[in-house]
Amino acid sequence: MDLSRYRRQMLYPGLGEAGQEKLALARVGVIGCGALGSFVAAELVRGGVGFMRLVDRDFPELSNLHRQILYDEQDVSARTPKALAAARKLRAANHQVEIEPVVEDLNAFSIEEFARGLDVLVDATDNFATRFVINDYAVRQGIPWVHGGVLGASGVSLTVVPGEGPCFRCLYPEPPAPGSVETCETAGVLTPAVGVIGSIEAAEVMKLLADPGSRNRGLLTVDVWETHFEVVEIERLSNCPTCGRREFTFLEAEREFLVDQICGSDAIQIVPPGASSISLSALAERLAPVARVSLRELYLEAETEGIHFTIFGDGRTLVTGADSAERARSVYDRFIGS
Ligand SMILES: [Zn+2]
Repeated sequence: MDLSRYRRQMLYPGLGEAGQEKLALARVGVIGCGALGSFVAAELVRGGVGFMRLVDRDFPELSNLHRQILYDEQDVSARTPKALAAARKLRAANHQVEIEPVVEDLNAFSIEEFARGLDVLVDATDNFATRFVINDYAVRQGIPWVHGGVLGASGVSLTVVPGEGPCFRCLYPEPPAPGSVETCETAGVLTPAVGVIGSIEAAEVMKLLADPGSRNRGLLTVDVWETHFEVVEIERLSNCPTCGRREFTFLEAEREFLVDQICGSDAIQIVPPGASSISLSALAERLAPVARVSLRELYLEAETEGIHFTIFGDGRTLVTGADSAERARSVYDRFIGS
């Protein structure tokens, strides 16, 4: 492969030509194509990884654009799923990289197929539930992963190499109680904080691939408003349920309806149990008498009683206009059916 376009990057001795060749052979998974995902994916694709698989469940909105730098107003008005819009931008930036976008919810049931054949996973999500699933899967399979999170002007990052240091659950033994932690909905988010953490995550992936010894071995915390930067050592928990006792409870969740609010959006997501495949055209016909329907290539939109549904072929549905998860589930049952 011609690596000449990376010569400025290869001049840096930490990477060098040998490191660049390793990047070119690497298969990276980016989980979430929002703010962090925009930075991480752009830097790693421009930096010349060989293959990138991207997953996201959502659509870009105008209120995303200040921080989700892969998207533009056109993507918002066209309602292009983020993973597809991101893949188009990334391919235009570097055609040498093979990009595989996946439009779905990353959870205990979908992570296995998503992560198949990947060398490293990157957390660019906005929620703890997904991070515990990533951690369980990565530790079980022995795949390194990079955690990143941003809130307000601050952010954190932790690089997890199974068997060689703490895992995410050594840091957070249990998920926080619902409603007990701030989210980007309540605390806001500053783009420069995202840029810093996204860049740290991209650098950690480069190091894991090219020079694993120089990875970050602690919990990095950054605040761009207070101009604060610190790495704190994290001990491995001797009785950590995940990396100590090897109990992967977050992968063993019962198959049930998943209902959750998508952070940074007013959509509530409903994922039905089981890998269902539904006929969108048949559903469009069934809903036509009671809703305004529009059948798109990948999804069906239906609007009725002030509620907007976006339904994908696997039954996953985004509901906007419902004021609570319970209301979203109840209109889903009424119109889409369980
Ligand atoms: Zn652990």
